[in-house]
Amino acid sequence: MANAEIGVIGGSGFYSFLDDVTEVQIDTPYGPPSDSLFLGEIAGRRVAFLPRHGRGHHLPPHRINYRANLWALRSVGARQVLGPCAVGGLRAQYGPGTLLVPDQMVDRTKARAQTYFDGLPLPDGSVPNVVHVSLADPYCPVGRKAALAAARGRDWEPVDGGTLVVVEGPRFSTRAESLWHQAQGWSVVGMTGHPEAALARELELCYTSLTLVTDLDAGAETGQGVSHEDVLKVFASNVDRLRDVLFDAVAALPANDARDCLCTTALGGMDPGFELP
Ligand SMILES: [Zn+2]
Repeated sequence: MANAEIGVIGGSGFYSFLDDVTEVQIDTPYGPPSDSLFLGEIAGRRVAFLPRHGRGHHLPPHRINYRANLWALRSVGARQVLGPCAVGGLRAQYGPGTLLVPDQMVDRTKARAQTYFDGLPLPDGSVPNVVHVSLADPYCPVGRKAALAAARGRDWEPVDGGTLVVVEGPRFSTRAESLWHQAQGWSVVGMTGHPEAALARELELCYTSLTLVTDLDAGAETGQGVSHEDVLKVFASNVDRLRDVLFDAVAALPANDARDCLCTTALGGMDPGFELP
C-alpha cells in the first residue's frame, strides 16, 4: 500500500540515491500527474517525490498538470509539501546560488487550471461547491521555518521572505518585464510556483516553496539575458546541497496529525462538494 506523510515536488536528483524507492503510478480525476510518485524514507519519514516536469524533463511549466500533482500527493497521504524550484533573481544581491524562501507570491500566469472549485463535475459525479480559500499568506509558516532552519544548519544562509512572481513561460522575461517586476519590489521570478501553492491550500495541504536562484533575471543584469544552459548549470551545481536542506527540512516537519497551522483549516469547515483524496 502506497503511503507517505510528506510530498516533495522535485526531480530524480533528490531521490535517485535513496534505498528502497518504490515507484507508484497514480491516476486522478484530473488525469495523470507529471510522472509516477517515488516513495522513499528520509529520517524515518515517508516521502513521496514527484518529478514536476516528468522524468526526462519533458513537460514545460505551462503544460504541467498541477491539479493532478497535488491531488496525487494527497491521495498517498502527504499533507505537507515542499516545492523547490529554480528562479531568476530580481535584485543584484540575489545572485546565482541564493536560496530564498518566499513568503509572498504574485500570479502572472495566463492559462493554467488553478482551482479544484471550478464547478465542473468530477468523473465520480460529485460537483465541487463554490469555495474561496484565503491565500493572503500562501505558504505554510511551519514549513517555512523548517526550511530556513535546515538551510542555516547547512551553512547556507537563506533569504527569509520575499515575493515570488510566477510567469507563464516557457520563455524568459523581456528586459522591460523584468524591470517592471523589479520596480514592484518583487524578489525572484519563476514559472512553476503558481498554481501549486493555491491548489495545495484548496486541499488543506501545507505547502512551502524553496527557490534556488540560478541566474539574474534580464533586467537585473546587463549581459545577454538568461540562457537555459546557465540555469541548468547552476541548478546542477547546487542540487546536492539543496537536497541536504530538503531532507533536513523533511526531518523537522511536524507529524501530520500534529499540524496546527492555518493550512489545515483552509476550507473553514465548508463542504468542498467532493471527497478530498
Ligand atoms: Zn501548514
